[in-house]
Amino acid sequence: MVIVMEQKATEAQIEVVIGHLVRLGFDVHRSTGSERTVLGAVGSGHVDDPGVLAVLEGVHEVVRISEPYKLASRAFKPGGTVVALGEVRIGGDEVIVIAGPCSAETEEQVFQTAAAVKRAGAKILRGGAFKPRSSPYSFQGLGEKGLQMLRSAANEQNLKLVSEVMDVAQIELVDRYADMLQVGARNMQNFSLLRELGKTRKPILLKRGISATIEEWLLSAEYILGGGNPDVVLCERGIRTFENYTRNTLDLCAIPVVKKLSHLPIIVDPSHGTGRRDKVAPMARAAVAAGADGLIIEVHTDPDRALSDGAQSLIPSQFDQLMAELRIIAPAIGRGICVEPVARRGWAV
Ligand code: PEP
Ligand code: MN
Repeated sequence: MVIVMEQKATEAQIEVVIGHLVRLGFDVHRSTGSERTVLGAVGSGHVDDPGVLAVLEGVHEVVRISEPYKLASRAFKPGGTVVALGEVRIGGDEVIVIAGPCSAETEEQVFQTAAAVKRAGAKILRGGAFKPRSSPYSFQGLGEKGLQMLRSAANEQNLKLVSEVMDVAQIELVDRYADMLQVGARNMQNFSLLRELGKTRKPILLKRGISATIEEWLLSAEYILGGGNPDVVLCERGIRTFENYTRNTLDLCAIPVVKKLSHLPIIVDPSHGTGRRDKVAPMARAAVAAGADGLIIEVHTDPDRALSDGAQSLIPSQFDQLMAELRIIAPAIGRGICVEPVARRGWAV
């Protein structure tokens, strides 16, 4: 942190600022130029709100030069993190596709969808059993029954499973069935949930909050990492802006930004990001081209009758088509992507 003093700052004012910085644990490097004094605060000091320094008499400006998150920062692990769900590795050379219904509804729907996404090359099944719905009158999910269906379908297809946990009280149950626990957009700043998830050993899929900045998102990841769980995958799922043609505004620029700021893998959710089935494939293609480590896509065998998010769910043939397109795009940027895992195992690179 650098504190730039006003030109007319007095020696006494400078001494007061230095005193504050020392009390906060910083080493202070003073540079007195011909016009003004600049104080460099380094070392292990910490200030929650740099505003407390900015309002001191004689201070012109406080400039933060290091990020407020540490464990999530790229500097902490320059080589990048690979999050492993068994043999499925997110953040490595391969682009990982997660697909499945928004919610588990019936055995038939879950099993048919799991078979379809597996055939097309997905590695992880998605599906909610606890649903964060805007209205309390909307379908809330099947709870444990839904988790049982999802787990059996994932086992049958040799897929990993990710499912959402909305509350601290649900962690133990969801952890029993899923290979990865999803924190939904609405819970990105549920700090007590994040802290508890820091104690689990399962990878966490941390979705970006509806109105969260990238810095806030990385600070949320910091809660989980700080709790002792190193396996966090970030998910850009669109943010709320003044644009209302699409359900959210999918911020694909977050991909290169996060890649620079953090070592954590980042995947993209073009389903919630657009809210419209016809916009999912173009944004999925763009996300892979922009360097996403994976995608999470809603697929439903009968989306017009889906109990949640039907409008943004692909039918299996559309998902097949998208996977075929991704198999062209991924190698073009030096990434692998699964090639028809059932029929022909191998990687296109
Ligand atoms: C979901 O994945 O179905 C979901 C509710 O996502 P989000 O938290 O991004 O809205
Ligand atoms: Mn959904």
